[in-house]
Formats: sequence, C-alpha cells, structure tokens
Amino acid sequence: MSEKLAIHGGSKAVDKEFPWPIYDSNDVNAVTEIVMSGKWGNPDCGDEVARFESEFAAYCGSKYAITCVNGSVSLRLALIACGVKPGDEVIVPPYTFITTASSVIECNCVPVFVDIDADTYNISPAAIEAAITERTKAIIPVHFGGLACDMDAIMDIAKRHGLRVIEDAAHAHGAEYKGKKLGSIGDVGSFSFQSSKNLTSGEGGIVITNDDELYAMMRSLRNVGRIEGGQWYDHYNPGCNYRTTQMQAVLLSQQLKRLEMQTQKRNDNGLFLNELLSNIRGLMPLTRSEAITLHCYHIYIFKYDASEFGGLSRNDFAAMLAAEGVPSFKGYPHPLYKQPLFQNKNFMCYAIPDHVDYTQVHCPNAEQACSEAIWILQHALLGEKEDMQAFAQAILKIQRAIC
Ligand SMILES: *Cc1c(COP(=O)(O)O)cnc(C)c1O
Repeated sequence: MSEKLAIHGGSKAVDKEFPWPIYDSNDVNAVTEIVMSGKWGNPDCGDEVARFESEFAAYCGSKYAITCVNGSVSLRLALIACGVKPGDEVIVPPYTFITTASSVIECNCVPVFVDIDADTYNISPAAIEAAITERTKAIIPVHFGGLACDMDAIMDIAKRHGLRVIEDAAHAHGAEYKGKKLGSIGDVGSFSFQSSKNLTSGEGGIVITNDDELYAMMRSLRNVGRIEGGQWYDHYNPGCNYRTTQMQAVLLSQQLKRLEMQTQKRNDNGLFLNELLSNIRGLMPLTRSEAITLHCYHIYIFKYDASEFGGLSRNDFAAMLAAEGVPSFKGYPHPLYKQPLFQNKNFMCYAIPDHVDYTQVHCPNAEQACSEAIWILQHALLGEKEDMQAFAQAILKIQRAIC
C-alpha cells in the first residue's frame, strides 16, 4: 500500500520550513543605525553605498561595482555603456527572466534569441556563432540557476567578432567558473538583489567591471547623467535616478558576510541531490562540467520524464511535489519569444525593423526545457543532508503512488 499523497490530504513528506531571507540582530542593528542617522539617501556619495560597492567588487575579484535600483536596470546601464545604438542586435537566450530580453528593447535594440544547450539550459555557443550578423553588438549570457555558461567559448566568439559580453548573473552571486566569480569574466557582470535572489535587500541591483570607461559611464547613467567632478545640475549622459538607499547598502553588507558559506552549502547539497536523484527512474539532473568549480544553485534543476511516472504530466507532478513540502516549481511556461510582448511586438521602439518577426522563432531545446523542468528553489538547498534525502523520498512517494 502506498501512502496517501499530501495533495490528496495525506501528510507531507517534508514537514519543515526553509526560511528566506536569513537575518539576525546584526542586520537589524545596521539598518536601525542608518535610520537613526537620518542619512538615508545616496546622492552618489553615500558612505555606506560606496563601502558595499567596494566590498562586492573585491568579493567578485573585479575592479569596480555600481549599485542601482534592480537587476533589470543594471542590464540597461551595461547595454548603454557598451555603446549599443538603436537597431543593434543583442544575442540572448530564451529560457530566462523577461528582463534579460526586455532591457534590450528598452535600449531600442533587437533581442536575437538563440537556443540553449539541452544538458545545461545555458546559451549554446554554437547557436551564438550562427546568429551573428554585421548588426550584432553584444551577447548577454545568463548563468541559469547559478550554473556557469561556457565562458571560454563565449569570450572567444566575442573576441573574434568584436562583441561585448554582459553576463546576466542575477542567479549567480558567488558561483564560479574555473575558479573565477561569475560576473567578473565578461565586460560587465549584472546582478539582482530582488527578494528571491541568493543575495538580497528586498530590491536592488549591481554591475561589476574592470573597465575604467564602462565604470565611469555606468556610474554617470545611474546618477542622472552627472559626471565625476561635474556640477550637481550639469547632466552629460542619458541616465536617470537609479540610486539605492543606504539602508539597502548596510543590509547587503551584512548579507554578503553569509554569502560564501551559504554558497558552499548549496553547492554541497546540490552535488548530494545529483547523486540521490540520478538513482530515481525518470529524473535527470542538469549536467555540471569540471569547469564549474562552485555552483550556487539559485535553482536546482532536474528533467522529469513522465513515462517513468505512469504518464503523470510534468505540471501535475510539480503540484504534487510542492504539496509534499518540497519548495519547488515547474518554472517558465514558455520561452521568452512566445510571450505576448514579443509575439505582438508590443514595443515602444521604432528602431526594430519590420522584418523582425518573433512568431517565426523556434528554439527546440528551450521549448523542451519549459515542458520537462522541475525547479527546487535556493532556500531549500540551505537545508541539511537529511532534508535532501527527504526531497528524494518525497519524489519516490509520488512515484510509488502513481505507478
Ligand atoms: C531576477 C532577474 C533579473 C532582474 O532582476 P530584478 O532585480 O528583478 O529587476 C534579470 N535577469 C534574471 C535572469 C533574473 O532572474
């Protein structure tokens, strides 16, 4: 007799909360101090903002960091600083959050979707190379779920074709590729500090770079186009007020102290889950190459094969797994080009040529990912070894009940 599934009123296989965000009295005191000081804002010289920026740059092994309001605006700062002009093409993957591509539209440029690799869900270098035209200006690889893209291949393509590389590292704080922190390899690395991300202050974003000119431009764009040494009411570049508060900066500074330890823990639990889940019929974790020296598992992803679960649909399985108490989700329902925004070209952008037609785009691997993936969320990977075993048991419980 199989046990009653939680979705049908049975008891949960995993009866435990996985808290996020994590904080203690140091976080509370740091924010309180700023509140009491009355110096809440950041007129581009906020002490605490600058302090956090140097901490984060140093942590990533980069020269500069510039905070901003979120991880979408950070992509915009990077694109404009990289010198894109209206109508330029920017290569992006279709299996990612919308703003990887919509930030390109906002810069009056054309997002060109190229397929992901079926084993990693990261942008395929061969597909990038095949999509390059004389209008291509930049590539935005996304380290999906915190798994590093094939950066050697991508940097090589960029070098040969004179393209800029903006790493969308919104999932990848602290993760590494061949010992290098993600975000520090391309021309610019972009991060989000939104609530769900591995480093958070509720909202926020940051860009990192080693390039003096990109730094000066992104810093100016973030601060209404003002420049270093310029007057308060002198504006040189098409920026806006994208500044963060000092409350966010001190909170991030406290959170950053925990990041390396949390990343190690997720990395270890992810490796352990790979072992456990590979032994279950019908499940396949994504491939992790030798180049991945540290994975931060913003999302732990495995592929689900319904034929080993009596034909139970991926969506029904995802609902059952979540009901069993595993913090998990079915992920994106469609690749980005299928979104009404792109299908209907509902853009306030007249630089995109008429012949660009997203109804004709077809990326089979991204479409497959949207129908087969299961995501386990990062805070669950901060649990203990026993919790990972309990996740595997929850899956086996469903398999037994179904088959
Ligand atoms: C979250 C996210 C962003 C945007 O970050 P926000 O801070 O929410 O604007 C960009 N890219 C990816 C891949 C993301 O997951």
